[in-house]
Amino acid sequence: MKRPAKLATADKALVAAATAAIEQRYRNDWQEVGAALRTRSGKIFTGVNLDAYLGRMAVCAEAVALGRAFVDLGDDGIDMIVAVRHPPPEDNDQTIAVVSPCGACRELIFDYDPKARVIVPNGKTPAVVPIGELLPNKYSRGPER
Ligand SMILES: [Zn+2]
Repeated sequence: MKRPAKLATADKALVAAATAAIEQRYRNDWQEVGAALRTRSGKIFTGVNLDAYLGRMAVCAEAVALGRAFVDLGDDGIDMIVAVRHPPPEDNDQTIAVVSPCGACRELIFDYDPKARVIVPNGKTPAVVPIGELLPNKYSRGPER
């Protein structure tokens, strides 16, 4: 993996948007992750995860943000995306921090923009990496091209 890039001002604003979304909608065990994405045309969309009593019906925050973007703009691509996790109330450290997208979201992000960049944890300060670096040997329905 190449050395990850540092966050630009606009990327810090994206982290802030994801943080604001989960701060507003946090419910213990139900909504714990916020996400924000910036489309290729520069618009920002946020989402929170939708947990469900029937676990397999749960939807990730990134997918909610992408759905909102797609409804408003159609296929406008993903320039940058980030997810953040709100800790449960029993944690001493209540810092809302950047988390990596799960494997399913990596597939989803790649499907909607193979050149998307993702803000990921990187020690004390998050970093930017291309989605392709988070998803080597991506799943394919057909033969490799
Ligand atoms: Zn996910």
